[in-house]
Amino acid sequence: MKLLLATNNAHKAQEIREILKDSFSEIATMREAGIELEVEETGTTFRENALKKAVETLAYAGDRFDAVLADDSGLCVDALDGAPGVFSARFSGEGHNDAANNAKLIRLLASVPDERRTAKFCCCVALARRGMEPIVVQGEVEGTILHASRGENGFGYDPYFYYAPLGKSFAELSAEEKNAVSHRKRALMLLREALDVEDRDHI
Ligand code: IMP
Repeated sequence: MKLLLATNNAHKAQEIREILKDSFSEIATMREAGIELEVEETGTTFRENALKKAVETLAYAGDRFDAVLADDSGLCVDALDGAPGVFSARFSGEGHNDAANNAKLIRLLASVPDERRTAKFCCCVALARRGMEPIVVQGEVEGTILHASRGENGFGYDPYFYYAPLGKSFAELSAEEKNAVSHRKRALMLLREALDVEDRDHI
């Protein structure tokens, strides 16, 4: 089964390849496949966005691929009723970037005490397949939002996301350490489990 990844992010692609290499005969990114398509994220949930991206990309790719994997992720903060959620990348509006998004997050949480600064990173992964039901799974990792940034690694909200089991912010973890516990890793492992169960049921 040939899989197209609805991403050009090399780090994501490498992580996905490592976890799903036994489930597919070929795995290609959009760039490797020579396909250019920007699917608009108009959904109100990670699930809607990931599924929309996977289904529309599969339809666009024609029959060169049997399946498309797409993901949508973001940060959900309890004291902000789940915001920024699906708006994580564009939280600070026009001209958004990581620094502006983080500045807005910290401003909104300024008067929120430590015990109410709980949050989670979510990653929804959708696998659209020709002639088969899609599989959609969501991985999550819980943490708290710091008052000041810590660490230089990672991207997005990582410097403000404190992960208690390792006693560090996500930006203080190496890429390997973060990939081992991340929302993305958890979603991909759930997808692999679902594919393995299908395989077993077909034997
Ligand atoms: P996307 O789903 O890869 O487009 O990510 C959406 C946005 O969520 C990113 O631009 C980040 O702001 C945020 N985000 C998602 N995953 C992470 C993460 O692992 N660390 C920090 N921020 C993240």
